[in-house]
Amino acid sequence: TQVPNSRVPVPTLERLATYLRLLHDLDQAHIETVSSSEVERQTGINAAQFRKDLSYFGEFGKPGVGYNVPELRQRITRILKIDRPKPVILIGAGNLGSALVGYPGLKEHQFELVAVFDNNYGKIGRPLWNLIIQDIARLKELNSSLKARIAILAVPASAAQDVCERLVDAGIRAILNFAPVLLRVPDGVYVRNVSFIQELAVLSYHLSEEEERERQQ
Ligand code: ATP
Repeated sequence: TQVPNSRVPVPTLERLATYLRLLHDLDQAHIETVSSSEVERQTGINAAQFRKDLSYFGEFGKPGVGYNVPELRQRITRILKIDRPKPVILIGAGNLGSALVGYPGLKEHQFELVAVFDNNYGKIGRPLWNLIIQDIARLKELNSSLKARIAILAVPASAAQDVCERLVDAGIRAILNFAPVLLRVPDGVYVRNVSFIQELAVLSYHLSEEEERERQQ
């Protein structure tokens, strides 16, 4: 009784990734079962919310017994379709892009970085970790054999829309966008935005509220 993914709310999908992270750690520690209250303790996500999230995908766990860790891990992995390696390409071999290429978490979660592209002739042809930086002009040609459907975009905001259009033209269907700009994409192409600055701004606001309260005391 699996509900089509399009009906699953995005926040649920995000939390599934958090559960997966926890299950991975529990599995590494050879812990076989986990209760929803333990999930709450470790992730901060309410136990009832956890059960509701899983209910979108059918029956899990036994009342009073908890959830079998390897089994739940495998099922969430399948739900998120990260049960086999997925090729990912990265555009922009700048400071941020270079750091992402070296991040081992990608491979741990079966996201395999297969190519890095840039438009700077000073960078093209140079190695970056285990890859050679490719000319963005060859994006479509190279991706016709790489067949990546996911791209990480780490170019400056001024270049992002243009690069985004090239990505779509090269067969990319999902973009993780680090550029602080709203991308316009055709239907059927998914974008997730990552904004450090936005996150920092929210944190800064919380602190300033707190400081304000302290000042008033
Ligand atoms: P650097 O100063 O070494 O380029 P940076 O991280 O400060 O590093 P950014 O200006 O943020 O650089 O750009 C990130 C990367 O995106 C750079 O490597 C840049 O060459 C690349 N880039 C910029 N425009 C494009 C484009 N149109 N297509 C592909 N890559 C691009």
